[in-house]
Amino acid sequence: MSATDVRTFGNLVGGEIVGAVEGATREILNPAPGEVIARVPEGGAADVARAVAAAREARIAFRDTIPAKRQELLLAMADVLDRHAEELAALEIANVGKPNALAAEEMPICSDELRFFAGAARTMQGQATGEYGEGYTSFVRREPLGIVGQIAPWNYPLMMAIWKIAPALAAGNVVVLKPSELTPVSTLRYAELVAEVLPPGVLNVITGDGPGVGQHIVEHPEISLVSLTGSVGTGKNIARSAADTLKRVHLELGGKAPVVVFPDADPKAVAEGLRVASFLNSGQDCTAASRVLVAPEIYDAVLEELVAAASSLVVGDPAEGDQVEMGPVISARQQERVLGFLDRATSSGAEVLTGGAAGRDTGFFVQPTIVAGVGQADEIVQSEVFGPVVTVQRVDDFATNAITLANDVPYGLAASVWTRDVANAMNAIRQLDFGCVWVNDHLPFLSEMPHGGFKESGYGKDLSIYSLEDYTRVKHGMIKLS
Ligand code: NAD
Repeated sequence: MSATDVRTFGNLVGGEIVGAVEGATREILNPAPGEVIARVPEGGAADVARAVAAAREARIAFRDTIPAKRQELLLAMADVLDRHAEELAALEIANVGKPNALAAEEMPICSDELRFFAGAARTMQGQATGEYGEGYTSFVRREPLGIVGQIAPWNYPLMMAIWKIAPALAAGNVVVLKPSELTPVSTLRYAELVAEVLPPGVLNVITGDGPGVGQHIVEHPEISLVSLTGSVGTGKNIARSAADTLKRVHLELGGKAPVVVFPDADPKAVAEGLRVASFLNSGQDCTAASRVLVAPEIYDAVLEELVAAASSLVVGDPAEGDQVEMGPVISARQQERVLGFLDRATSSGAEVLTGGAAGRDTGFFVQPTIVAGVGQADEIVQSEVFGPVVTVQRVDDFATNAITLANDVPYGLAASVWTRDVANAMNAIRQLDFGCVWVNDHLPFLSEMPHGGFKESGYGKDLSIYSLEDYTRVKHGMIKLS
């Protein structure tokens, strides 16, 4: 892309598209060629203050909208997204290096989520109404929290923004959202588009990095809840800082999903499933299938199929065409980080069976990689790599050890079980300490079902009516009858 193609985007604050208060900008890269594609505002504390002021102006009127009105607004947001799906997908491809098909698939998923929350806006209820004290009637109101701060990651920029914005608005909150400083362009463009349908100040989108903008959102006393999708380290920092103003915290953090392969599983089906679930979005997915734990009886067969599946992936710059199935990772830093994990693993005896290198001189690529010969305590098994890297472990005495090893990481976001036996599946779902457990698949999610982790993968739910609960508070009203 030449310098003349570099686009400029602004923040959305109080219904207006504006630059940063101090006028600073940041260059945004396409990670496939590693070239600048856009310039966006680089904010600071003053931008957070301005966005909160705009949200404050909108807060009471939006709180008092009836659910049917909020439904209409969310449906209008979905229609806007559908009408501009091609443009938004193109921005996602250019900014994240996503393959064309993946970016195109994400757009209708985003509008479905908006439509789900449009309907869900009309379902909110308190649980109790009645006479619980002599001479009194009590009732429970479910109310919005007020101004919510939301901080998004770089891997599915627009989708993660929608996961946050949709339930918050459905519940009647007003929003100050910060996209990732690496991938803000689709969210900024979408904000510009929905400014046409939303009342000013209901949604404010401001860009900048964690210390510059994110931290000020977390510290702002008028923000009632901060919701982060990001890494465990950032989640811990945010939870600590949020304690000073005792604001509520909603954390969707990293994962290290185990894939538990029972002796009766079909090795081909496992490999076909993981060809997608381990390498989609270059493995930069919090639920990516990253640790395969296999029964000894079929270890060799699974390994052989997996290596064949991983090495068959077509890797490249999505601009090369629709045949590209896997693009780069997001940045030079992330590439270095992923390759660093591999260097350290191989120096301590792990064996790379396919991949293991950048594979290209330009752009931030990492080949699809399968690593064997690892131990449960190894860094590459215990820590989220967030790249196209899968470890495979042979689990001796599988019936006794598989679930224990699967649970033996600090994370608890997602897991899968591969078996033809329904009792194996049911027992594993019960015993696995993860917020979602799939059987004979890995990765699909639904607008109706909750997404969120246990342990260091955070707390709070995205999607589903559970996220509406997270974005609301419960109030007791009590009336003396005489
Ligand atoms: P990150 O933690 O580096 O950044 C996430 C966001 O937090 C960014 O917008 C960043 O600017 C902001 N931030 C950083 N420091 C901050 C601070 N001190 N205060 C406030 N904001 C701050 O994460 P990332 O690298 O953008 O995303 C990858 C991570 O996100 C992975 O760990 C991945 O597993 C996780 N993730 C989780 C889910 C989920 O649903 N659980 C979904 C997608 C990604």
